Amino acid sequence: MSEQLTVLGTGGTISTLPGADGAIPRMTADELASSLGVDRIRSKDVFTRSSREIGPAEAWILASAIEDEIRGGATGVIVTHGTDTIEETAYALALLVDARIPIVLTGAMRSPHMPGADGSANLRAAACTASCAEVADYGPVVVLHDEIHLASLVTKTHGVSVAAFTSPAAGPVGRIVENEPLLLLGPPRRKALLSRRGG
Ligand code: ASP
Repeated sequence: MSEQLTVLGTGGTISTLPGADGAIPRMTADELASSLGVDRIRSKDVFTRSSREIGPAEAWILASAIEDEIRGGATGVIVTHGTDTIEETAYALALLVDARIPIVLTGAMRSPHMPGADGSANLRAAACTASCAEVADYGPVVVLHDEIHLASLVTKTHGVSVAAFTSPAAGPVGRIVENEPLLLLGPPRRKALLSRRGG
């Protein structure tokens, strides 16, 4: 099966551009996807906002957008997201989406115009993680700072560091080494999905 990645944009620091009132989420999923230079990649803006404005209702919409991509033949989905609530969205997706393909959430601690901006490296790490079929067995994962974290364990433990994300109970399940995901721990037992009747 040939690879078909999709970038779903939701906003956050990874998509900011400087404006009169500071950095605001303005880059499209298409701009983010194009920066990867990958041949077969689709993109869609689901939201363009700070992740403080993303809660359960938005996670539900995002879950449907991911399922549309799966039905459309995606082999991996990358979700770009603000870091303030990325762990909540990842956990919600783990309970809502029957992931048969890698679903990888990523973001950035620094805006693209700041020195040492981490967004493009995180996006690239997310893309190579989404290209690894084995990652599907882990459910949705969060990739930042070259680490792969389980949705059920990851948490933001620092306000500004590019190494803000950790999984205190067990550590990351994998790392990105020279553009390849290295899975260090086996996949977790899958949890039952929440019923989405009525959605
Ligand atoms: N306030 C931003 C957000 O969560 C912070 C970030 O993306 O890092 O959307």
